[in-house]
Amino acid sequence: MAHHRAMTTSDLPTYHSTASAPSLRSREPMEVMERPLTPLESADAGHVKVVVRVRKFIRRELDSKSPCLIEMRPHNNETIIHPPPVTQEDPKGTRRQYEERSFTFDKSFWSHNEKDAHYAQQHDIYASFGEEFLDHNFDGYHTCIFAYGQTGSGKSYTMMGTLDQPGLIPRTCRGLFERIEAEQNSSITYNVHVSYFEIYNEHVKDLLTPRTNPPTYLKIREHKSDGVYVQSLTDEPVKCYEDIERLMKTGDMNRTTACTKMNDTSSRSHAVFTLTLKQIQHDIATDSTIERLARMRLVDLAGSERANRTEATGQRLREGGNINQSLTTLGRVIAALADPKRQRAGRVTGLQNQAKRRAEVVPYRDSVLTWLLKDSLGGNSKTAMVACISPTDYEETLSTLRYADQAKRIRTKAHVNQ
Ligand code: ADP
Repeated sequence: MAHHRAMTTSDLPTYHSTASAPSLRSREPMEVMERPLTPLESADAGHVKVVVRVRKFIRRELDSKSPCLIEMRPHNNETIIHPPPVTQEDPKGTRRQYEERSFTFDKSFWSHNEKDAHYAQQHDIYASFGEEFLDHNFDGYHTCIFAYGQTGSGKSYTMMGTLDQPGLIPRTCRGLFERIEAEQNSSITYNVHVSYFEIYNEHVKDLLTPRTNPPTYLKIREHKSDGVYVQSLTDEPVKCYEDIERLMKTGDMNRTTACTKMNDTSSRSHAVFTLTLKQIQHDIATDSTIERLARMRLVDLAGSERANRTEATGQRLREGGNINQSLTTLGRVIAALADPKRQRAGRVTGLQNQAKRRAEVVPYRDSVLTWLLKDSLGGNSKTAMVACISPTDYEETLSTLRYADQAKRIRTKAHVNQ
């Protein structure tokens, strides 16, 4: 039978504090002189990397003296959720039905207790896989990192961060230009472009153009070889990190935010930030030019909680419904891609048929979000998911952990883009 070891906030868990210090990925010394853009030999298939991050208590949880339900163990990246204690608010003890559950992910980040030696800071998250994903971009692979979780679980903090504690997006942009700078003497020319859009009520809005009244919605198109794209989206050339910083500010000002009962500053939209890196090299010997293009998508998803949790009505409810539609479809896409039976069915008759069959069974086009992320989910991309969880909310947290558990079964096929 499950037993819980839930604690109160005054008894902050040191034994819970078990996320290992994220390993800093050791990078090869940067080649400063010549780095030929040679074609990579073969397509490299891999699974979707899934990490989980628990955030610290926020004011609401401290005020209500909520117990901490999450335990993380460093040696095997295990995340355990304990059932909440039975309280007076639950006299029938229905919460006793809740069980202890354990999950294993690629990494478990403990960001709950700052005093703990294993406390994972913003730079630990970046060092653990942001850097690795930049490596993939320079090698010519598309990449995608998306943050999933209920409102208030730390998605924006992880992706964008704060002025004092910048998150994955600013750190990745900085890292990109540091590398380009370090390769200034090489014969490769680098072009970087940035786009930033949001999906709100199943409409796509450009965040780099001023808001209009009525709002301007952009169309999604699919190109035979280039894949799915947003038509007429601003794709701004940038020369340095400061250029991007300016665009991020513009984009964040244009983002649709609304107050809900659960979190005042929660965003009800999905925000997609895209960095495009083009490497161009001229080979004097053969008088030919090699181009390699790689895109990194960094996605801050809307809150995954059910609309009724926020006691939303009217406009807010419609937003909630649509957000659920997008996230439900994302769940169905993940389930389809993670299902080994479907993957086997797709392998029956040759490559062309395989692609066709997979497209048939995976419902990418059922929502704007999944259509746009088609390449990133099971397609031509290296993909990671950061499952953000609160340390207190059993149902929502368990649902996020289950979602993440399924995502880790997806295998993608990443081809080099040149
Ligand atoms: P979401 O984007 O999922 O709605 P936020 O990123 O806005 O959630 O996080 C909710 C609150 O918790 C914010 O005040 C944020 O600063 C804080 N927070 C989230 N994660 C952490 C963390 N790892 N460390 C410190 N504060 C955090």
